[in-house]
Amino acid sequence: MRQHSGCRMRADDIVEGVRSMARAGVIRFLLASGLIAGVSVAAAQTSSVSVDIGHTNVASGAVSARGRSELEFNRELALQLAAALRGKGLAVRIVNEDGDIPSLRARPAAAAGTDLLVSIHHDSVGENELLPWEWNGMRLDYNDAFAGHSLFVSRDNPQTARSILCARVIGARLQRLGFAPTHKNGRRRAYADFEHAVHYYDGLAVLRHATMPAVLYEAGVIKNRAEELLLRDPQRQARMADAIATGIAACLRNGVPAADEEEADRRDGADEKTWKLP
Ligand SMILES: [Zn+2]
Repeated sequence: MRQHSGCRMRADDIVEGVRSMARAGVIRFLLASGLIAGVSVAAAQTSSVSVDIGHTNVASGAVSARGRSELEFNRELALQLAAALRGKGLAVRIVNEDGDIPSLRARPAAAAGTDLLVSIHHDSVGENELLPWEWNGMRLDYNDAFAGHSLFVSRDNPQTARSILCARVIGARLQRLGFAPTHKNGRRRAYADFEHAVHYYDGLAVLRHATMPAVLYEAGVIKNRAEELLLRDPQRQARMADAIATGIAACLRNGVPAADEEEADRRDGADEKTWKLP
């Protein structure tokens, strides 16, 4: 759909913009991208990101096809993401590092003062979609029909537009690196952006109680026997973390929130060379 291809171009532009900044400087990117005119350059400021490790030691989330807890998957990817973000010069706060955070509301509270909250999770399937199998002498269950990542934002978060933008840019970067999204959650959750598998999940406490933009990331389906193995691969985790970190850096440093899209796209007939430098 036209609207969606437009979204992709915007997100890709922003992601590409980060590369351009490294190569050719911030100003040239701002002009070439057509995203920002007359806005002060924020790239030099240090952005901070809270990376939340989903679930707890007591309630460790879904169980993978091979019996591993979601918490373990979440922790591994979250720590890789933290390293990738720091590598890009962003400040990182890990939320629920010890797995003992007392409540869902404590997560956004712990993120207070940072610019973005990203909650890391791994996806499962409904009870009625599970099939039994035996692995290593254990009676477990699986579902190989669904695979891929998806993203969630809440309209009850005070910064929904920027949450959507960050989710889109993350989704675009993931796809650019070859990660495929899942649309399994489109059966129950409305889309904020179909192409990048960004859904509304308004009631999620970790998102709606956040005062900063917030995104929940489902990295993949751990009930899928093949995808589970991919999700455990440290090198692939690092590549996924790099994609997410690149998207976050681009969103926080250059992104124009979705609610301002029309204005951001409007160039008032001005040619690039007539723009004034900030
Ligand atoms: Zn989860």
